[in-house]
Amino acid sequence: MTQGDLNAVKTKLKRSQKIFVNRSLNMGRIKAIGFDMDHTLVTYNREAFEALAFTETVKKFIAAGYPPELERLKFDPNFLIRGLLVDMDRGNILKVDGHKYVKLAFHGRMPLPRDERHRLYNSESFKASNLLSVDTFFALSEVQLFAEVVDYMAHNPGKIGKSFREVYQDLRRFIDLSHADGSIKNVVLSDPARYIKRDKHLAPTLRQQIESGKDLFLLTNSSWDYTNALMAYTLDGLSDDFPSWRQYFSAVLVGAGKPGFFTGSQPFYEVLPETGLLKIFNGPFASNSVYHGGNAKLLQKQMGIRGDEILFVGDHIYGDIIRSKDIVNWRTMLVVEELAQELAKLDELKEALERIKQKLEIREVLEEELQLLSSKIKINERQSLKGDPKKAQYLLKEIEKITPKANERKDELRTLNDEIKAMISEREKTVHPIWGELMKVSLERSRFADQVSDYACIYTSSVTNLRFYSPFKQFFSTHDILPHDL
Ligand SMILES: [Mg+2]
Repeated sequence: MTQGDLNAVKTKLKRSQKIFVNRSLNMGRIKAIGFDMDHTLVTYNREAFEALAFTETVKKFIAAGYPPELERLKFDPNFLIRGLLVDMDRGNILKVDGHKYVKLAFHGRMPLPRDERHRLYNSESFKASNLLSVDTFFALSEVQLFAEVVDYMAHNPGKIGKSFREVYQDLRRFIDLSHADGSIKNVVLSDPARYIKRDKHLAPTLRQQIESGKDLFLLTNSSWDYTNALMAYTLDGLSDDFPSWRQYFSAVLVGAGKPGFFTGSQPFYEVLPETGLLKIFNGPFASNSVYHGGNAKLLQKQMGIRGDEILFVGDHIYGDIIRSKDIVNWRTMLVVEELAQELAKLDELKEALERIKQKLEIREVLEEELQLLSSKIKINERQSLKGDPKKAQYLLKEIEKITPKANERKDELRTLNDEIKAMISEREKTVHPIWGELMKVSLERSRFADQVSDYACIYTSSVTNLRFYSPFKQFFSTHDILPHDL
């Protein structure tokens, strides 16, 4: 293959269709692929769904005695992104890089002044594990509602006599209640077309894997009735050979309680599909059966496969990916839905990124030059104090010659830094007006990006991107190249 052929293959796929590799993965060695349901196999119409969750939870706040004015709070699909951290004690939302540097912070809906941000978070180290991570799409509407209530408290002191943490605890309770009492679920199930997007590529993507000899299983925390309704809407009737969604999967596991599923030792219960009732299960797995609870080790035993022969596909970095890789050594694929939009925008900004890179190179040369000049000035100053007046005079003259040059470089650097800063901020704002890219903080990797690269063997914007690759594909990582190799 020539370089030209290689380039043609490489450019065939758009970046939003590609699968990116952190750790080499040979799909030929994978015997089973497990899928999470929500936001992995089932794609939500996020704006409609999150608005519903937001509104239902506001109703619960008011019913619990919070001020009725909260009714005026509106869901805003553009305020937050995933990967942010929430400081529940202070009512703040943070964007953090991989070194735990807080680059951006909001108190409710108000940006936190720079000094306060530095004082609270950057002057000494803080424990990211004490903060809440906005990992799931479900958390977006939850955290936005928290920000709105914090904002209300800032503008109406004394009206809610609770701490921010207490408000968050109430919020969690109200959301759980909205899920448990059906206020969200029943609305979705009554009009799935409004809340769920059907992807015509899903059925052929799954079939391609089945035909290559892999077993597929579904592993979701959702309940059986919700799972059955959503999966039926998503997959039923899309293929003559597989009229029911159940036929795609050799095992359907609901109420799994991930990430506890990967660490615990819960037994499986068999679900009676008609009634949803649970029956004690003693094994072995029967085809076309549905199971509740369980744990990863028992699943491997029932399926007769090792951890590294399973690829698990999910959208939740913590619930689906971190524990499955760490504890049971499953191979992992993370679905990062936002990448589809971000990569399209970033493709348009490719030239701008090249210009930023060029300016960074110029800056490196200028900085090096300035450092040389400055150290020369310092050395001459020190030497001139050593007593020999003739030599001192010569050295001072040298300093006089060098200083304007150094000042010139300083000015150039200042202007260049301002330009680079403006260009980076422009790029960030194009992706998201407040928080910028999901995977970046300025040009540094975000905390979210660090987690993705540590735990997801591969990642992509949609499950259906698997269809662009052979089911026996050997994904190679280029991450093993160290800075000194280049
Ligand atoms: Mg999910």
